[in-house]
Amino acid sequence: MVDRKLPTRAEDFAEWYNQLVVRAEMADYAPVRGCMIVRPYGWALWENITAALDRRFKATGHLNAAFPLLIPRSFIEKEKHHVEGFSPELAVVTIGGGEELEEPLVIRPTSETIIGHAYAKWIQSYRDLPVLINQWNSVVRWELRTKLFLRTLEFFWQEGHTAHATLEEAEAETRQMVDVYTDFAFKEAAVPVIPGRKSESEKFAGADITYSLEAMMADGKALQFCTSHNLGQNFAKAFDIKYLDKTGVQQHCWTTSWGLSTRVVGAIVMVHGDDQGLILPPRLAPYQAVIVPIFKSDEEKKTVFEAARKMSKELIAAEIRVKIDERDGMSPGFKFNDWEMRGVPLRIELGPKDVASGNCVLARRDRPGREGKTTVSQQGIAPVASKLLGEIQEALFQRALEFRKANTVTPKDYGEFKAAVEKGFAMAHWCGSAECEAKIKEETRATMRCIPLEQTSGPGKCIFCGKAAAEQAIFARAY
Ligand SMILES: [Zn+2]
Repeated sequence: MVDRKLPTRAEDFAEWYNQLVVRAEMADYAPVRGCMIVRPYGWALWENITAALDRRFKATGHLNAAFPLLIPRSFIEKEKHHVEGFSPELAVVTIGGGEELEEPLVIRPTSETIIGHAYAKWIQSYRDLPVLINQWNSVVRWELRTKLFLRTLEFFWQEGHTAHATLEEAEAETRQMVDVYTDFAFKEAAVPVIPGRKSESEKFAGADITYSLEAMMADGKALQFCTSHNLGQNFAKAFDIKYLDKTGVQQHCWTTSWGLSTRVVGAIVMVHGDDQGLILPPRLAPYQAVIVPIFKSDEEKKTVFEAARKMSKELIAAEIRVKIDERDGMSPGFKFNDWEMRGVPLRIELGPKDVASGNCVLARRDRPGREGKTTVSQQGIAPVASKLLGEIQEALFQRALEFRKANTVTPKDYGEFKAAVEKGFAMAHWCGSAECEAKIKEETRATMRCIPLEQTSGPGKCIFCGKAAAEQAIFARAY
């Protein structure tokens, strides 16, 4: 193992990311271009993400189910915008069991169509509504440029699909899931997302309204954290999802869909990491604390390990995810750097002197060097560690929020706007025209990220054309 340094983020942010994800053993490249292998450390982080979300989905009345990977191609063609949006990215199966298939099958790029087909069978009456289902799966959208977690041909996610009796109920569901995701982003991922509405050109293929949560990465670029779509009656009409209302009249349902993917792993890396490596938010970190035993002789090793195991037991009993680094033949210094690179929030250093005095040293990952170190008693370590993990979680959120605020500009003119999107977000009035949006994109490479639900000022003038603009939008270069 060579202790090479990562490139700094200022030197080469993209290369810092690429090397870090591989060296922290989160993911690896696959033999098929565009695919990725998620390694146990990356998967453990994803599992904690899924658990935190799944809890929230169930608390809001949703149930999990599983729909097939293969979808008849004709299904995708039923909704006009959907087929236009997804056709270029489809993987199609034409041979099965050695024989040419009568109808080609597509590998799901998303499941609105196959779920719409099932809902049409299951929903008969207003009594069957609402239907609130989520599924955890992977989907395929053909992609040749691999960027681990951020852009891959196959990615893991959840997709929620609901059906309702009225537009109002469908819109309330769509907005509820925006709130659920925002709560997750703030409290679990420590990412200060901005919830908002997408423009016509940026919305989901087949949706009436798309909401997204936008996050600022540490290089000032935006990343779409997740989306929630009000699909209107588009899929209900394409798939004949109907119900008999209370007066006995046939009505089309109103449907929604919402999803969050493994891209969020990439977001967590890029929001919180520093030049030494990952900094994982304690609530999602695979290991919240790691104990590094320090010893020279076998005798010292024995007493230090004994104390380490005792502490580990106490921490586990307090539901803290802890690991003792028992690896042989590596110096404590190497181990410190290794866990720092992997972003473990809390390091517990334990040597023979500490054991003798009944103490240990706690080192916070978010505050490198002496500043983040404290000596505490081994006795009662669990409540101390627990409190510290809570503080780290909060500090990460605050730091990310301050960074975003410092790099968000409300430009007075187009010149200021252009300078702003070089470094971060521009919160600017936009008249709503696709033409202004396209020209801005062409001239600055910044896209309309969202129209924030929370506006910071009333109506104004479009930053590009100067015409009346009812709302402000976030513009930024994006992943
Ligand atoms: Zn305009």
